[in-house]
Amino acid sequence: MDKDGLKKEIIKYGKMLGEKNLSPATSGNISVRFDENILISASGTCLYDLSEKDIVLMDKNSNLIEGEKKPSSEKNLHNAIYAIRPDINAIFHCHSPYTSVFAVCHKPLSKPIISENVFYFGEIPVADYALPGSEKLVENTAKYFAKHNAVLLANHGIVIGAKDLKNAYYLMETAEVFAQIYLHSLLLGGAKELSKHDIDEIYELRKKSGC
Ligand code: 13P
Ligand code: ZN
Repeated sequence: MDKDGLKKEIIKYGKMLGEKNLSPATSGNISVRFDENILISASGTCLYDLSEKDIVLMDKNSNLIEGEKKPSSEKNLHNAIYAIRPDINAIFHCHSPYTSVFAVCHKPLSKPIISENVFYFGEIPVADYALPGSEKLVENTAKYFAKHNAVLLANHGIVIGAKDLKNAYYLMETAEVFAQIYLHSLLLGGAKELSKHDIDEIYELRKKSGC
């Protein structure tokens, strides 16, 4: 897809995040690979309300290449994840309410209670807290992407990577709904976990599907 097409996609998925209350106010950021570089939402923008001028082009070292605004303050986190995962082409960072409940409680989304989540995530671990936008946050978080596609940021939110913007959006919705169901299940005494056999079957399915 060309640069304008990718910008339009960022705008579209930003709007969808906003409509689903996954990205309150000016929280969160979105990026996508464009050739050797990265298109990323500008710092301080509302993802629900992005326009083309709110999306800037940066290089792998987070230097601005094109655009009037500053790249997101989480630019180094996005670039660190791209550096270790050549298969990840799009990244969403959100302060989505239900996943953030788990992030503030330092509880990983690890209980195998919904087959879809076992399939797509295995587990979603929690990275240690560090100041938003800091190098320490990059250090604490990016390393989890060696084995995971989504990581909770303690006392902050979640970051998700996928092969394209559409799949990153789907994973974001899936993680948020999982957190919502998980939390509500506690009101009814807690969900019943899938058995080891059930989980192995799901992993086998995932291997076959090449996910
Ligand atoms: P930016 O507006 O700089 O992208 O920051 C939002 C955010 O969520 C920081 O963690
Ligand atoms: Zn944030």
